[in-house]
Amino acid sequence: MFSWRHEPCDRGPVFHLTGCIDERAELLSMVPEISGVIYLDFAGVERFNSSGIMRWFEFFERVMPKADEIHFVRCSVSVVNHLNMIRNFAPGVWIDSFFAPYFCESCVHGEDHLIEISAHHAKISSLQAPAMACTECGEPLLFDSLEITYFTFLNEAALRFPVSDD
Ligand SMILES: [Zn+2]
Repeated sequence: MFSWRHEPCDRGPVFHLTGCIDERAELLSMVPEISGVIYLDFAGVERFNSSGIMRWFEFFERVMPKADEIHFVRCSVSVVNHLNMIRNFAPGVWIDSFFAPYFCESCVHGEDHLIEISAHHAKISSLQAPAMACTECGEPLLFDSLEITYFTFLNEAALRFPVSDD
């Protein structure tokens, strides 16, 4: 079940998206609320299905002319996978931060870690996962996907990134 809510923030409103983006996802109900600089927080988006992708494009087409800047923050693994698979998923948007899957061999559990692009751009755009420590035991984590595919979107010319020299 998809839902959204928005809250004001200094830089612009943040829209928190939650659930599955499928044929029932009421994305278009956000459109009247959108103007200026907006932030879309995808941390709660679990997956898209094919009807959801169609809805996403319909939504995106309506939002683009209304927003001065669109920032994606806290992109879930599912959103990253779509940014990697679908070239025109979100052309022109800023990607500020995203989650990446890691695995702890000591605890035998997986955890997603938030990566701020401004802090790690050089490393991740050369397709290397930043080092992360397990939140349970503190041991170094293994990256739990393929770096060569997971970080591909960082070299996508249609996307924008907050880059600092690191
Ligand atoms: Zn651990």
